[in-house]
Amino acid sequence: MKKILFVTSEAHPLIKTGGLADVCGSLPKALSELSQDIKLILPRYQALKITEDIRFLCSVRVDNRNVNILETRLPDSQVTVLLVDYPTYFNFPGNPYVDELGEPWLNNAERFGLFCKIAVEVAMDRAHLNWQPDIVHCNDWQSGLVPALLSLEYEPPKTVFTIHNMAYQGLFPKTAVYDLNIPGRLWHIAGLEFYDMLSFIKGGLVYADFITTVSPSYALEIQTTEFGYGLEGLLATRNASLGGIINGIDTEYWNPETDTYIAQTYSAATLNKKRLNKADVQLKFGLPVNDKVPLFSLIGRLVEQKGIDLLVECLPEMMTMNLQFVLLGSGDKVFEKQLQVLADLYPEKMAIRLGYDEALAHVIEAGADVFLMPSKFEPCGLNQMYSQRYGTIPIVRKTGGLADTVTDTLPETLVIGSASGLVFNEASAGALLEAIKRALILYSVPNIWKKMQVNAMSQDFSWQRSAEQYLALYENL
Ligand code: ADP
Repeated sequence: MKKILFVTSEAHPLIKTGGLADVCGSLPKALSELSQDIKLILPRYQALKITEDIRFLCSVRVDNRNVNILETRLPDSQVTVLLVDYPTYFNFPGNPYVDELGEPWLNNAERFGLFCKIAVEVAMDRAHLNWQPDIVHCNDWQSGLVPALLSLEYEPPKTVFTIHNMAYQGLFPKTAVYDLNIPGRLWHIAGLEFYDMLSFIKGGLVYADFITTVSPSYALEIQTTEFGYGLEGLLATRNASLGGIINGIDTEYWNPETDTYIAQTYSAATLNKKRLNKADVQLKFGLPVNDKVPLFSLIGRLVEQKGIDLLVECLPEMMTMNLQFVLLGSGDKVFEKQLQVLADLYPEKMAIRLGYDEALAHVIEAGADVFLMPSKFEPCGLNQMYSQRYGTIPIVRKTGGLADTVTDTLPETLVIGSASGLVFNEASAGALLEAIKRALILYSVPNIWKKMQVNAMSQDFSWQRSAEQYLALYENL
């Protein structure tokens, strides 16, 4: 049994802004189900949704600040959650990174710097918890200083740093080095310095014993200039200690056989019932209810990363085809507006819902025939896995986790029973349109389409599978 301290800035269902929270809620739970002794450490934000008991554990003093550590539990699990309670930094409305107006907190360096230092105190068993982890598993830049600071300790635990998205690096003006009291030994270009800025993510990339990303393909991509954000050289030097492990999904929450959000539950054996969910989507979006017309969909953040610009470029031509399209998402106001204009132009074929709506996301996954994910890059991606589980065929660009989890439909993959979606290469509207046309052709041959659906639904995207790979990694360290 390993003792693992899991350091993260968000974890579902306590607090979530994106995919990071899904991973950091599920992986610790899956590890604890594999009988590991795991504690998760998280800042005590005002917005935390705590349902379990909460109690005071101890008080730790760092940098002349008294910080309380509280303890609660991750709902529906045996995972202990340590909350870093420092109201001056964390007890405000807003999300972990931005205030109520969406502006980044001005003291983000101080906030996450303090969080990292407390995690180090716990990791070195100086917080009087009588518990020293074997492994400290850090996630994204908010926890990046932990491996760096631990590297200065005598006999520290082994450290793993997981990159969920290289696009976010935690870069701050170099004055932060003094404000945070960063030891001088860490401040150099082979350390935390990045073009005269303090880089939190480099703390993980340089000093962690092992670096993981959330898919094998993304682990390779970030070593190239296109996806490395100037850190590709460093990552290439760490190549021997860098690998990818695909995220799992919550297979109970995303289960078409038991999903309480959807109109009609179904399984691979009762796929014909899926049409009731399709009618439900068409009704909810005010589109003509028609079982014959293929229903395309997209759920997600409306940002360039997700290839929304490609979609917008394709839509006018898509609207000339025999299909319907629904979209749920929010993000870039320019995209929101362009999509709304198109939806107003083609009310019989396309409808959108701007906002965040978890229940509707389930309804769409259950009812749509096709799910679009034309991402420019995608460290792992979750929706393409949810889609496959619901027999909703994903169309994805061949990048990151999309490339690793969706098998293109070709004569040979149909024969061996692995075809589960459509994969296109080039990040262009033309390539996306080609894939859409291929999907329409395949959809018109019901027995092939059904085969693809069954292949997709029989894939194992469970967290147990991923957790076993993490555990093997911990054991190797
Ligand atoms: P990312 O983390 O880059 O946003 P992922 O595909 O890894 O992308 O995860 C996104 C998660 O957020 C998924 O669980 C997805 O269903 C959910 N999601 C995104 N936008 C919305 C929305 N508007 N309504 C409901 N769920 C959403």
